Parts: sequence; structure tokens; C-alpha cells
Amino acid sequence: MVTIFAISTHQRIYSRLWHEPLDVIVYPINGDGTLHTHNYIQSLTDNDFTEIDRWISREAERFDLPQKQPLQTRLGHQVKSDPPLLPTNNNVAAIVWWGLKLRWWVWRNTPDSESNLRRVRVFVSFRSDEAELPHSVGLQKGLIGVVHAFSDPSQNSQNNIVIAHEILHTVGATDKYSYFGTPLYPQGYANPHRQPLYPQRYAEIMAGEIPTSSYSSYMAESLRSTRINTITAREIAWIE
Ligand SMILES: [Zn+2]
Repeated sequence: MVTIFAISTHQRIYSRLWHEPLDVIVYPINGDGTLHTHNYIQSLTDNDFTEIDRWISREAERFDLPQKQPLQTRLGHQVKSDPPLLPTNNNVAAIVWWGLKLRWWVWRNTPDSESNLRRVRVFVSFRSDEAELPHSVGLQKGLIGVVHAFSDPSQNSQNNIVIAHEILHTVGATDKYSYFGTPLYPQGYANPHRQPLYPQRYAEIMAGEIPTSSYSSYMAESLRSTRINTITAREIAWIE
């Protein structure tokens, strides 16, 4: 256990130094087992995720981060099993047990090594049906993200928002939306000092939606209309 703890602590520190690009590998999963999703996964290339790297470079520049390329995202091999699902209740023991099962599952599917101190693994389970997707998660411990997404090219830009959101969780960012999914003020606003406050022009990445009033907001369509605010920047150690 001591070794595991030591690796986790190193991982937490090294992943947030930002002195070289943090490697992100996206592992696709055929979440519904359909031919449609199979074909979609076959069509994916590294280029489908460069939007994430370009976006975070733009945000880093706004914060004068010396590192010009904070992330280097690429496509990994297809993973042939489904990650354990996050319990839907808030039972602490069930969530702890799920966390252990998930880390075991990750280790089985992408064997670990000490070189993982600066590698984020994002498992994206794609499906084609209209059903409500399970919640996506990002864990700082282990630098692991699990994303549930639609296997449709028209959804790529929104999928990249969710992937970027979960990557930022792995380096310490927290959620900034309410129980009802609306951005919290001020922490969930890209520009909480804007005059007039509404409508906001951008979504804060950890809130995901663009506020149009104190009680209404809409989903950002792509990372182009999404920003990192100073609160998130502080959480991911970009600023003091
Ligand atoms: Zn989140």
C-alpha cells in the first residue's frame, strides 16, 4: 500500500508541473456492440482529438503558462471490455469499491508502469442509441477518465468537450454546476465579472453550459465556445 500511495502522490505532483506536455491516450470501447459503433471507432484517428490540444494551448496562452502545449492527445487501441459502472447512489462504500474495481479494470486493460506518472488514460465508451448516457467521470488518483459518448461524427465536438472536462478532473479541477446542471455563480462562469452578466459568451469547461440568466443555460457546441476560468486554472496549478 505504501508503494501505491507513493506512486499516487508522485503522479499528482508530476501531472501538474506543466513543464512538458501531459500525454493523453483515448481508448475507444464499443459500448453497444453494434456494427455502427464498430465502424465509427474504425474511422477515428488522432486528428479527431487535436481540437482538445489546440483548445488547451489557446487557454494556456490566455493564462501566460510557459508551456505552450499542455496536452498531447492521441488515440489508443480499442479496449474490448466495459468499465465498471459508477454506482448511481451516493453510498460511500459502494463508490470506494467501484474505484478499486475501476483501477483493477484499467490495470488489466492497459498495464501500468511507473512511466504512467504523466499519462492520462481516457476510456471512451461509445454507443449509438438515444438512451441517456451514464455519467462520465475523471479520477485524479490514477489519472483515469471514463467517458460515455455517442458514436456519431456529428457528436465529435461535444464528445471532445466531455473528454476535456474529464481530463481536467484528473489534474485536480472540480465540477462547477448545480444539482440541476446549471452553472454555479461565480465559479461556473467563464467571465463572472462581465457587464452585463447575461448572456455569457462562453461556457466554463467544468460547468459545460453557457448561462443566459441565473436559471437558464445551454450546452456549448464545441470547445471553441468553452473556457477555463481563474478558479479552474488555480485548481490545475496554472496560476497561484
Ligand atoms: Zn465533472
